[in-house]
Amino acid sequence: MKVLYPGSFDPITLGHIDLIKRSIKLFDQVCVAVVAKSPKDTLFDFEERMDLVKKCLKGFKKVKVEGFEGLVVDYAKLKKIKIILRGLRMISDFEYEFQMALTNRTIKPDIETMFLMPEPNYSYVSSRLIKEAFFLGADISRFVPSYVLKALVRKKDEIRY
Ligand code: ADP
Repeated sequence: MKVLYPGSFDPITLGHIDLIKRSIKLFDQVCVAVVAKSPKDTLFDFEERMDLVKKCLKGFKKVKVEGFEGLVVDYAKLKKIKIILRGLRMISDFEYEFQMALTNRTIKPDIETMFLMPEPNYSYVSSRLIKEAFFLGADISRFVPSYVLKALVRKKDEIRY
């Protein structure tokens, strides 16, 4: 059985990777789908986000990384995948994820959304917070793979000059 894990991954964090490791134990293949055009303004463009996800997941044999545009459920259908994976960190994720899961189910009733919770250490890690904290000078090395840390340092330099 395959699972589709969609997101903006701007950038990928150890929280995302924690979830991917958990899903690997449950599924034969995990398809990590990076959204090409995010409704949120992204710090990293699509190519950069794809590149980081690919580098960080290189050793994972059961994982495939792909980019997609449009509705997640349409992409799942196209890939013949019946389960969408999403993460639940705090109660605050619940409302948005609940709405999205039910909306997706209304559009495509044969596709289910499954939720996994990360290790508590990562339950407060979000790409948005990582970026904010990093640009304010915090040490975020515990929360992101080294490739991501390097990319953030490069981005900060680019923005500065
Ligand atoms: P999106 O913009 O689609 O929410 P994200 O890349 O922010 O994309 O997140 C993709 C999925 O991963 C979401 O379901 C989100 O809740 C989950 N996620 C993000 N960070 C973590 C984390 N630290 N632990 C567990 N799940 C997470």
